[in-house]
Amino acid sequence: MTDAASAAELESLLLSRSLDDPELAAATKRTADIRVLPDVSVVKVGGQSFVDRGREAVFPLVEELLEARRTHRLLIGTGGGTRARHAYSLAAELGLPTGVLSSVGNAVAGQNATMLGYLMARHGVPVVSGGGFEALPLYLSESRAAIFAGMPPYAMWQPLPDEGVIPPYRTDAGCYLVAETYGCQNMIFVKDEDGLYTANPKADPSATLIPRITVDELVQQDLPDLIIERPVLELMKRARHVRSVQIVNGLKPGNLTRALAGEHVGTIITSGESK
Ligand code: ADP
Ligand code: MG
Repeated sequence: MTDAASAAELESLLLSRSLDDPELAAATKRTADIRVLPDVSVVKVGGQSFVDRGREAVFPLVEELLEARRTHRLLIGTGGGTRARHAYSLAAELGLPTGVLSSVGNAVAGQNATMLGYLMARHGVPVVSGGGFEALPLYLSESRAAIFAGMPPYAMWQPLPDEGVIPPYRTDAGCYLVAETYGCQNMIFVKDEDGLYTANPKADPSATLIPRITVDELVQQDLPDLIIERPVLELMKRARHVRSVQIVNGLKPGNLTRALAGEHVGTIITSGESK
């Protein structure tokens, strides 16, 4: 089909069918996807697993990020962590709904972005949110890095969990969606373990590291607990760009730098035909 014919077909389907129509969905797939910021890497700095450890963890990582900025353009997303968990437990005990917990979690990830922003301010690294994302290309070309709160701003529009009231799409999902939307080069999760284990290594000393796994294998294994939010796996299955993520132990200096260079240092999770 020529480009003109496929554009005409898409337009006619869009005007005549329901937006949930499968043929219409297939027609929207025919155009090649554009990677908006293909040379940018998204780095998620964990909340509980990283920022909450204070200067001992945060200062060396800030240095590593600043050094990495010389050779990579970076989008740095933040987690929430212990303060978010405390607020979730209060709100849940008060009987409040998921949408409220989602807003509260957003505020805490924002606190971590603010603190990281002040630490990196003298190096010209800005914090972006909301409409600020529209100026992102400018920030990235001027300063080669920007910080954002990892929580997706769903607030009361947060999708509901299968059970209970904890928002399912939190900061891992938020950072991942930023990487996917911008068609970024890398999605690296910086946490406090060497990667994904067969169980939470803090609770189960017999857990072993899984260096590489596919989303399908991971879903099939149905592990008791994961190092990233489960909805990220669903998002990865449907991804057009970011079909590979790496989880690294940021407490070990150099790991992030190596992962940014494409080295395998933690756990790589892949989906479909990924690199
Ligand atoms: P973040 O700070 O980015 O929100 P989390 O604290 O939510 O990160 O997740 C990281 C933690 O997940 C690790 O510190 C680890 O204790 C725990 N964890 C749970 N299940 C696993 C697993 N299967 N493999 C590795 N770590 C796991
Ligand atoms: Mg988490």
